[in-house]
Amino acid sequence: MSQETALYDAFMGYSESVGERLVQLHAAFLDGRLDVDDFIDRASLLVGQAQARMYALADASLSAFITVETATAVPTLGIVAPDESGRLRDGLRTLLAVVDPEAPALRVARYGRSEAAGAFQDGYSTAMRERPEVGGYRRVLNTSACELCVWLWRGGYVYPSGKSFHRHTGCGCHPEPVLR
Ligand SMILES: [Zn+2]
Ligand SMILES: [Zn+2]
Repeated sequence: MSQETALYDAFMGYSESVGERLVQLHAAFLDGRLDVDDFIDRASLLVGQAQARMYALADASLSAFITVETATAVPTLGIVAPDESGRLRDGLRTLLAVVDPEAPALRVARYGRSEAAGAFQDGYSTAMRERPEVGGYRRVLNTSACELCVWLWRGGYVYPSGKSFHRHTGCGCHPEPVLR
């Protein structure tokens, strides 16, 4: 029931690298190489660009899925990630306030990873809603999925495509479309 799919590798691998780059920026802030405003500017740009790429990845992977399943070339939708810069800047300021400066890396990485992965999951939901070919989706659990996600999986239950994919911080699950 749980597996590390190619899609999981793609979006979580990229999310992982966003987390690592955010840790590097934060280290530059702690060293005094960046002041607070520079850190917030660069970090929100890094995460915002990652979210834009995640929407593009979700769009492209859903198009590829439908192209293969229907044996008909399907172009991407061109969906665009919403501008989250205000929320990101607030989130990054909160992160600076709460993170332990002696051991910041895990928490800072988790923030970057979660923002990127969440954008992929949201982008995939958005793309499925806009595809008439998609009737619904199943939840694909990653191997370390939590109890909530296993419950949401419900033995491979098919959710209607209009129902947003439920995700949370640290969630590596993704939808698998079911075509009409
Ligand atoms: Zn979970
Ligand atoms: Zn999950």
